[in-house]
Amino acid sequence: MQVKAVKGMNDILPELTGTWQYLESVVRDVVQSYGYAEIRLPLLEQTELFKRSIGEVTDIVEKEMYTFLDRGGDSLTLRPEATAGMVRAGITNGLLYNQRQKLWTMGPMFRRERPQRGRYRQFHQFDVEAYGFEGPDVDAELIIMCARLWQRLGIDKLGLQINSLGVPASRARYREILVEYFSGVKNQLDQDSIRRLEVNPLRILDSKNPDLSALIEAAPVMLDYLDAESAEHFAELKCLLEAAGVAYEVNPRLVRGLDYYNRTVFEWVTDALGSQGAVCSGGRYDGLVEILGGRPTPAVGWAMGMDRLVDLFHACGGEAPATACDVYIVAVGDGALEQGFVLAEEVRDARPGTCVEVNLGGGSFKSQLKRADKSAARFALILGETELKNDCVGLKPLRSTEDQNSISRDKLVATLSSKLDNPA
Ligand code: ATP
Ligand code: MG
Repeated sequence: MQVKAVKGMNDILPELTGTWQYLESVVRDVVQSYGYAEIRLPLLEQTELFKRSIGEVTDIVEKEMYTFLDRGGDSLTLRPEATAGMVRAGITNGLLYNQRQKLWTMGPMFRRERPQRGRYRQFHQFDVEAYGFEGPDVDAELIIMCARLWQRLGIDKLGLQINSLGVPASRARYREILVEYFSGVKNQLDQDSIRRLEVNPLRILDSKNPDLSALIEAAPVMLDYLDAESAEHFAELKCLLEAAGVAYEVNPRLVRGLDYYNRTVFEWVTDALGSQGAVCSGGRYDGLVEILGGRPTPAVGWAMGMDRLVDLFHACGGEAPATACDVYIVAVGDGALEQGFVLAEEVRDARPGTCVEVNLGGGSFKSQLKRADKSAARFALILGETELKNDCVGLKPLRSTEDQNSISRDKLVATLSSKLDNPA
């Protein structure tokens, strides 16, 4: 019997990895062009880290984490998101206190959700975080950076939603008002929400239950209870976005699925991907470093869902640049394969990055040429008995009607290079 893959954990096959590599490299280029540096983090962390940062009463911590006891008896969890690990790494490596850091990381995340299009149990995020910046300028920069990315990728089916959650004190006041509101309609709430009403009423606003959407729509909004400083912070953010020409919509119901946010929250959403519309989400989490045992450090960041980005890129008509093989070496007869390997290395030396495939596993002249054709290479280089005897190589264009040419061995690499430099 075959062993099946774990539900919700997908293989990304070669026909798609070209697109993944392309998108990852464009996101990396854009982010690095704003001065952000890469940090690489473990996939496993102590369970406690996520409980303390994401919040005990969230979908992630209550039902979605992959948690297990390792052989030493420690409770470990596969990371459901990257921010907690980034902060933990910042604290343990002394990167945060009295410093400014602009960091990015990317890789798989794990949440045991119900798998569906755009929602998987292993999915991939690109994360960008800035530490030590208090003002709305960095919030604006993080959003402007996304806008540049959409432009680079030709993605236009996205809208930006922003909101402010204020400081903890104004959230506490809003919390009371929410409890009052939802208590009045308690008989219409679902089990999860009734429980949350006691422990974490803001989470009700993040409910995905469609039966509650009208109630949530009619609930009082945080923006009306914002403290003066947060209101100013939010106003400045809006000014900076306007000046940069980034369109936004204020969505007062946007609270985000994790507990640690304060002030700015935002989401880039699309309706081109069905119900999984959030492609990139983020916000400010000034309290998190302290919650995790560090000195108070303002922090803000975003996470891009790469699986959804790949989908959206295609939905907007995007295609990654082709990465076909350039040259296929056909080698038939005594000593031909040895010469083929030497030739392939010479081409790679002369023109780094050129994809050269040497025919492996032998075969007749005809069958090797068939493979050459299938490889999508632009040229076949042919080494047969005649070529070896005359110290030359057959150069056969595979994508045009041009004839095969016999080129002397010492001129071959230069001739081939100049042909490859000219587009087909
Ligand atoms: P959603 O509302 O769709 O559940 P979220 O608020 O849980 O998203 P975050 O925790 O902020 O998402 O993660 C950032 C991004 O990661 C999301 O905007 C989304 O693009 C992506 N993402 C989150 N969960 C998944 C998942 N299970 N599968 C694929 N992508 C995901
Ligand atoms: Mg979610």
